[in-house]
Amino acid sequence: MANRLPLIAGNWKMHMTGAEAAQAAKRLKELVAGVAGVEVMIAPPFTALYQTAAELSGSAIALGAQNMHWESKGAFTGEIAPAMLKAAGCRYVIIGHSERRQLFGETDQNINKKIRAAIAAGLQPVFCIGETESERESGQTFSVLDKQTRKGLEGFVLQDLKSLVVAYEPVWAIGTGKTATKEQAQEVHAHVRRQLAERVDPDFARHLRILYGGSVKPSNIRELMAMPDVDGALVGGASLDPQTFSQLVHYQS
Ligand code: PEP
Repeated sequence: MANRLPLIAGNWKMHMTGAEAAQAAKRLKELVAGVAGVEVMIAPPFTALYQTAAELSGSAIALGAQNMHWESKGAFTGEIAPAMLKAAGCRYVIIGHSERRQLFGETDQNINKKIRAAIAAGLQPVFCIGETESERESGQTFSVLDKQTRKGLEGFVLQDLKSLVVAYEPVWAIGTGKTATKEQAQEVHAHVRRQLAERVDPDFARHLRILYGGSVKPSNIRELMAMPDVDGALVGGASLDPQTFSQLVHYQS
């Protein structure tokens, strides 16, 4: 089996000012100091990136952003360019989160452009995919995920995708308290990996980290992480409190 370094990532969404984020990052840094065998990332709002980066300097915790535009500059009021995130200290950028897709009309085509622009700027995309409850209930889970991955990654060559991370986030499990069972997560992760092995490259798929996201908390992370194809977690609500998030990071102990 490929050696995939687990990634525990916190999506802070529209929470925390710069000062609050720096305070939370400082506390988290203390709580996860010395943890080994797992990578940690936090994604605060844009306005908190610089202060959070300053607080994380010298620590192993990576900084991520929650979104970006695909253009490098121009008349795009309210948008943020990839190089701006890079300059702010980001290593990762979350792309195609279901809230972006559902509330802000983000399409597979836009997501594709964002992934391309992120990679070109040296950012690691955390590419989110996931089905709604009605899609799951009507047996469309795999076809929805296949379409999202096909369109999101259309036109890429293997070399482009080396830094990609995928996050499977069933929409019905995000912020709802309903978590996919470990069997449901495993089934989807294995399917996505198989599909990408066929469509992109077996070795790429073997090394690809696939995170699970959707109401991950200290009480369920261990069983999810025990699944062979679950390589980490993308965490919303439970990442806001450093104490709780650090328990997720320490899932092995
Ligand atoms: C998310 O927003 O990516 C997420 C998984 O949220 P939550 O953990 O709150 O369900």
